[in-house]
Amino acid sequence: MLRVTEIFRSLQGESTHAGRPCTFVRLTGCPMRCVWCDSEYTFSGGEHVSIEEVLKQVRAFGCQLVEVTGGEPLAQRQAHTLIQRLCDEGFEVLIETGGFFSTEGIDERAAIILDVKCPASGEDTRNHWPNLDRLRSDRDEVKFVIANRSDWEYAADVIKRYELEPRARAILISPAWDEIDLKELAQWTAESGLRVRMQLQLHKYIWGPDVKGV
Ligand code: SF4
Repeated sequence: MLRVTEIFRSLQGESTHAGRPCTFVRLTGCPMRCVWCDSEYTFSGGEHVSIEEVLKQVRAFGCQLVEVTGGEPLAQRQAHTLIQRLCDEGFEVLIETGGFFSTEGIDERAAIILDVKCPASGEDTRNHWPNLDRLRSDRDEVKFVIANRSDWEYAADVIKRYELEPRARAILISPAWDEIDLKELAQWTAESGLRVRMQLQLHKYIWGPDVKGV
């Protein structure tokens, strides 16, 4: 059984997969408390749902792309089984993780979108750094949510120190919603010369920042 907050079909809003039809399996619970978290409604509640039932609902939506997210999906051990079953059924699977849990043991067919938490999140001391060693350049992406200039400098330092540019399919620079001037972040990104990609959360521009299940 898994604790599930919601299963829905929408457009993928982030990463290099943005704009693609996608089924989202949003698991309940997260041990982190990022200051700017936009998924606080996943911290509690949810329903206990069997893996078979999750698969049934995912199949019914008919999307090739499936994202397992949260909350923190890796906080539930059974998430590994779900990921494996989704891969077995031929879905293209994305895992969106906050970077606190180890990514070791995740089915290698799934692609990982790994957050590195910056200081303004309040959770930067909990980054599990060995996850960066497991990145695969053909599929995994790293995401930095930036709330201010210090976050940007932290991200640039991590990218250089861990030599991330050749080691990830993409390095995503994402503005914290309503926290930072987009033009400023765009300028820092452009000036950096780094092999990074600034992204906006597409779903929030289409449906608004507070709408769930889209
Ligand atoms: S890791 Fe994700 S779900 Fe958890 S508190 Fe941070 S932003 Fe929210």
